[in-house]
Amino acid sequence: MCSTLNSRNLGVFNVAEIIVSSLLNKLLEDYKDICKCEKCINDMLALSLNNVKPHYVTSDSGAVYAKVAFQVNPQELATLTCTVMQAIEKVSSNPHH
Ligand SMILES: [Zn+2]
Repeated sequence: MCSTLNSRNLGVFNVAEIIVSSLLNKLLEDYKDICKCEKCINDMLALSLNNVKPHYVTSDSGAVYAKVAFQVNPQELATLTCTVMQAIEKVSSNPHH
C-alpha cells in the first residue's frame, strides 16, 4: 500500500484515495462492534478503492480538489459512502486474521 507515496513523487496522485480514506474514518465512528485494527482498515480501504473510479490530479490541486469534491457533488458522495459501507461490512464480517 505505498501507491500514495509513489504517485506523489511523480507529481500526481489519486484524489479518490484521500476522499475514500477520510470517508472510511468518518463512517467507522458509527461501527462500534467491529475490528478496527490496521489490517482490517487496510482491507476496507483496498476493497473500497477497487470499486471506486480513480481520479488523478496534480499534487498542487489535490488538497483543494478533495475538499471541493466533498462539498460540490452530493450524488457522488452518496455513491462513495455506499461503496465504503459495503467494504466495511464485508471485511468486518470476514476479517482476514
Ligand atoms: Zn482486524
